[in-house]
Amino acid sequence: MAASRKPLISGNWKMHMNHFEAIQIVQTLSYQLDENDYGACDVSIHPPFTDLRSVQTVLESDRIPVLLGAQHCHFEEKGAFTGEVSPGMLEKLNVKYVIVGHSERREVFGEEDEMINAKVKAVLKHSMTPILCVGETIEEREADKAQEKIQSQIQNGLKGIGKERISSMVIAYEPIWAIGTGMTATPADAQEMCAFARGCVKDVAGNAAGDTIRIQYGGSVKPVNAAELLTQEDIDGALVGGASLDAENFSRIVKYRLH
Ligand code: PEP
Repeated sequence: MAASRKPLISGNWKMHMNHFEAIQIVQTLSYQLDENDYGACDVSIHPPFTDLRSVQTVLESDRIPVLLGAQHCHFEEKGAFTGEVSPGMLEKLNVKYVIVGHSERREVFGEEDEMINAKVKAVLKHSMTPILCVGETIEEREADKAQEKIQSQIQNGLKGIGKERISSMVIAYEPIWAIGTGMTATPADAQEMCAFARGCVKDVAGNAAGDTIRIQYGGSVKPVNAAELLTQEDIDGALVGGASLDAENFSRIVKYRLH
């Protein structure tokens, strides 16, 4: 991880934790993390929508410097979109980071690059930071098409966005075969793909934006493998699913530098 890019460790809770459980885990996490941790890393948590207001209240009233995140949003401001949540609604809850284009949204809910690009723009417009997820399937990896896939997801996801804004974003490289499977990319593979993703950002937005943008690795990150992944030159943090549901495991990942 380059010294100038502060790592971001993000916990994606997916469809887990009701708002009572959410409050409990946030409080436990707050006992385990200290100033040194927050100084070394930015930490975000991404609860389900129904928990956001409760978690916001705990973070703000107890002055816990964990940043609030959402797992996705719609790209429109408002309207007849039953079941959806707008970026403006998230901004009002002091949400700082929004995951966009997670592979589960792409695969299970049919989100495609064009829609994902509209969401990235909508999140930026509301002064929040998109975490744009990209990653290849196992079939694409075996057919030597992983880089092609990442390149097209980055080019399409960033279409029409200014260099300055791109430099403030986060990209999460998440090989789909490693998400929730217990299989992790080797540190060397993860580094190679994150460096490749950075190169794609440079092609789209120039060297300065590529050097500044933070690129997370995601895919079965656990306390036991966090340090070897997160100390790679082009890996600037982690998007953590399963292991973020346990405060102890998540805080050990945040403290990876001490392992
Ligand atoms: C994720 O949800 O983005 C993820 C990487 O999950 P897991 O850590 O469980 O593989």
